[in-house]
Amino acid sequence: MKHFIRAGFCSGDAGFGSRMWTTTLAQCTLQTMLKRSNSVLACHTLRAGGRPGWPVARSSSTSLRTNWMQLREHGTQATARLPFTPLWTSTAVKQVRSLEQERLLEVEWEDAGQSLYPYTWLRDNCQCPVCTLQSAQARSLQLSQLDIHTGVDQIQFTDNKVSIVWPDQHTSEFDPEWLKKRCFSSAARQALQEELFLNERVYWGSELQIPTASFEEVLRDDKAALAWLLALRRTGIVCLKGAPVEQGQVTRLSQRIGYLRLTFYGHTWQVQDKPQANNVAYTSGKLSLHTDYPALHYPPGVQFLHCLSQANEGGDSEVVDGFHMAERLRREDPEAFRTLTSLRVDFTDTGADYCDFMVQSKNHIIDVDSDGQVVRINYNNATRDSVLDLPLHQVQPFYCSLHAYVQLMMRPENIVTYKMEPGDLVTFDNWRLLHGRKSYLSHPDQVRHLEGAYLDWDEVMSRLRILRKSVHGESKNQQAP
Ligand SMILES: [Zn+2]
Repeated sequence: MKHFIRAGFCSGDAGFGSRMWTTTLAQCTLQTMLKRSNSVLACHTLRAGGRPGWPVARSSSTSLRTNWMQLREHGTQATARLPFTPLWTSTAVKQVRSLEQERLLEVEWEDAGQSLYPYTWLRDNCQCPVCTLQSAQARSLQLSQLDIHTGVDQIQFTDNKVSIVWPDQHTSEFDPEWLKKRCFSSAARQALQEELFLNERVYWGSELQIPTASFEEVLRDDKAALAWLLALRRTGIVCLKGAPVEQGQVTRLSQRIGYLRLTFYGHTWQVQDKPQANNVAYTSGKLSLHTDYPALHYPPGVQFLHCLSQANEGGDSEVVDGFHMAERLRREDPEAFRTLTSLRVDFTDTGADYCDFMVQSKNHIIDVDSDGQVVRINYNNATRDSVLDLPLHQVQPFYCSLHAYVQLMMRPENIVTYKMEPGDLVTFDNWRLLHGRKSYLSHPDQVRHLEGAYLDWDEVMSRLRILRKSVHGESKNQQAP
């Protein structure tokens, strides 16, 4: 345990605590880390060992059913390759004890290994009706009332509960299952975060067969809806077949999730060749690969496009896996990757639709999180502003970097081309995929017409978690993914 304290309780991924989570690979990584004084290097070592978001497998199947099965298999393989796969087979407690000096509760589990919990965190998360508003499952304990240096009076394990009496004689009780899920070891945290956010992605290129599912089944059946959303998250695109060929279907589908995202283009929008178009999409011209709406600082996470009528000639759709391409760029041209993740580019969108608008934003072409993981692509050449807020010497390097990224995306082996048919409703991750369209011939007797809508990932992930709970039950969520 002393080793655990030394290794750094608060040092993020360095916090390998209990034996239970420390697999051979993790031990190797830990040794590597301890040898290296540069913690940044250490973090990269860890990430290369299989972090969420790393490419894990490729999918190639035609139906969502098959694809989903494959995804599940891939998931298992991928999880097996993760260095910190938790092995929680049981939440039976062997013993509990307090480490007074470190102010930690230690729970030793029957299936070997132990977990450590800081007193302050335990007091903060007391589940009693005084400290928690049960009806909202929300904390009512004020932070100003929390003694962040609290000790404990008594700790015991009885009736399958860990109970703690605090110095002011307030008592807290904790369920072992609840505690185990919240273990602070790197592996347990990683497993829980993956369960909550599903950041593992399956990267693909032109070989992808876009997963499909039945529109009506997704509306009707929870299992089908869950499979749809899991594939949407993991692969980034799913085509729903057999939607009625009339307007209003993207709205129906958004109600399956919750609600759609209103923008200046309306609740839903009609992609058609329009006179005096207020957007390049509303023409019959080619649309180069782009994400929608980087002119907003929070672009829509998910896009629905329903085909009501298709052009006879042209109008094929194209998609590219922007995360995959960003990772390729990171490897093949690190300088370009650094430029596109650090320089902010101005985007602009002016006009009138739902109402009049003058939108301006500043976005990185490639957004990474604090761990360096790619989390969003923001690129639309049509709305990239002529205003470019960069010092003179960064202008040419910016163009070189953007050009390198776009050239990579445009390689045939990276592009999936498909032609939507009436009744197809394609759903895709607008933070990850770039999409485009070939030009088409506009005929007055057959007008190409798609209806589109946006949603955000928060709402989509919320529905996914609820469906997972209703399909698999609560217990599934208590286990390793
Ligand atoms: Zn309490």
